[in-house]
Amino acid sequence: MGTKPALRTCVGCRNSFDKKELIRVIKTPEGEIVLDKTLRANGRGAYICNNEECFKKARKNKGLARSLKVEIPENIYDELIKEVSKDG
Ligand SMILES: [Zn+2]
Repeated sequence: MGTKPALRTCVGCRNSFDKKELIRVIKTPEGEIVLDKTLRANGRGAYICNNEECFKKARKNKGLARSLKVEIPENIYDELIKEVSKDG
C-alpha cells in the first residue's frame, strides 16, 4: 500500500514492469548464464519478461549480453528459451 513497485526494464522489449512479473537471468560467479526464478541468486542479473518472444528479442538486440557484459553463445539462448517455454 502506497509502495511503488520496483520497476525493472525487460532487456527484450525494453518495457518496464514490476520486477515480480519478470524473471532474472544471471551470470554466476562461475560464468554460467542461468535463469534465476527466485530473483535472489548472487551474480550480475538482467530482467526479462517470462516469455519466449522477449528472449528472442534480447538475442537479436543483444540486450541480454549487454546487460550481463558477456558474450552469450547461441546454444545458451536455446537453453533459456526452452526453459521459459516449459513454463508457459
Ligand atoms: Zn519483455
